[in-house]
Amino acid sequence: SLIFTEVRMCGIIGYVGRGVASDVLIRGLRRLEYRGYDSAGVAVIDNAPDQNRIDVCKTVGRVADLTGKLADDAVAGAVGIAHTRWATHGKPSDENAHPHLDATGRVALVHNGIVENHAAIRRFLENQGIAFQSETDTEALVQLIGFFYAETGDLLASVRHALRDVQGTYGIALLCSDAPHTLIATRRGSPLLVGVGDGELLVASDGSAIVAHTQRVIYLDDNEMVTLGPDGVQASTIDAEPLRKEVDILDISLEEIELDGFDHHMLKEIYEQPESLQNAMRGRINLQTGEVTLGGLANISRELARFQKVLLTACGTAWHAGLVAEYLFEELARVPTDVEYASELRYRNPIVEDGTMAIVISQSGETADTLAALREVKMKGATAFGVVNTVGSTIARETDAGVYLHAGPEIGVASTKAFTSQVAVLAMIATGMGRRRHLSPERTFIAEVKGRGGRVIAIANRAEGELRELADAVLQVPETPAILSPLVTAIPLQLIAYHAAVVRGCDVDKPRNLAKSVTVE
Ligand code: GLU
Repeated sequence: SLIFTEVRMCGIIGYVGRGVASDVLIRGLRRLEYRGYDSAGVAVIDNAPDQNRIDVCKTVGRVADLTGKLADDAVAGAVGIAHTRWATHGKPSDENAHPHLDATGRVALVHNGIVENHAAIRRFLENQGIAFQSETDTEALVQLIGFFYAETGDLLASVRHALRDVQGTYGIALLCSDAPHTLIATRRGSPLLVGVGDGELLVASDGSAIVAHTQRVIYLDDNEMVTLGPDGVQASTIDAEPLRKEVDILDISLEEIELDGFDHHMLKEIYEQPESLQNAMRGRINLQTGEVTLGGLANISRELARFQKVLLTACGTAWHAGLVAEYLFEELARVPTDVEYASELRYRNPIVEDGTMAIVISQSGETADTLAALREVKMKGATAFGVVNTVGSTIARETDAGVYLHAGPEIGVASTKAFTSQVAVLAMIATGMGRRRHLSPERTFIAEVKGRGGRVIAIANRAEGELRELADAVLQVPETPAILSPLVTAIPLQLIAYHAAVVRGCDVDKPRNLAKSVTVE
């Protein structure tokens, strides 16, 4: 089926052929631009006689910025990899853009996803004397591969060994200057497919990047690995079991690929929520002890016990997440909480009491009113926390501490997965705060209308009794603690909103009078 529920962080394309790799790769990256990204880069093996070195060109910004840079330092060669990045670890910057190299400069890698145990891997390698060039989780992976490779001289075995040590999700493509005609790719929890062209092979995170070259594709499953080179496509598991893979035909339009078979980005993003919520919570909460570990709050975690007031501020859907969080903070953390619309707050000369923890919520991290409200409350002495999706955005930079959503790019203008991730992250902050105050581990867990002739659609965790008689329809959701019910009840509401809009003939991904993020006054 065409329905994937993976949250793709950003885009990968790789090429092994006879053409000019950088041209093919740039065209592929342009096809991936619709997904949203913050940086782009390419690595190409220069395999002119006596060269065999990897040239890397990467930049924060758009693919157009990358082409500008490429024109200056021309990158030759017919084997290469390229990437559009949606930062999860480390701000968007030239250094943090992919591809990343190992310490010897012989291995280059692009990565989609998150290496959860990157800090432990980095510590281990730094103790071995390896210096890092970026703040990314990805560099820990390529450095680990390079470290094993320097020891053993066996590239494939080194990739396998490193991946056994990695926790998290990845789609990766890598090059090694000692094997200048070969590309290796593998995945776990992040999509990847191989394109089998005429005298050329490609790999990509999404069919739109390669469809201009070939429609013959091999879909990789989790823990499968391919080597693309002069001998064609060699497939195996990451445990080195050989595999025979079928060639499928990609017979859909570019637009369909971009939407993964969904009619709209909004619907696609509604269905991505199991994964985006897992990404928001993964490695952050221990369900047994109720302990919450939020990296972004680590430095101030002791202060969490001392705040006397929480002030939540945001605009639009993020403000609604704030309304839900008001209950969470009062109930779980027992701290007086206010929610203010950011555009009101900024013009109202608010009184900010001592001991106020201001939480600023924004998907883009660039919402102009929210940013102005943040500056206002900071100036008045509040400690400011960000709950933001976009790594390195202005709000993320200007807050004192914060937690990222890791929901992946949200393209649909009507916010869905960012909303539920905001609620989940706020619930974790409230729980973490509560645990430091008084909360026991057990408590942590994470008809009037009818009278007027309206029709009632009830959303409930039980479809019985009185409710059955009152409501015209009952949509049943799983049972959950009352304060977390907005997380499960939001989803049927999103679907009702979506389908009602479709039936009315609305342009769902571009609603009238609504912008994705209002970054101007
Ligand atoms: N986690 C990696 C980073 O922050 C990859 C993000 C992506 O999938 O684009 O650099």
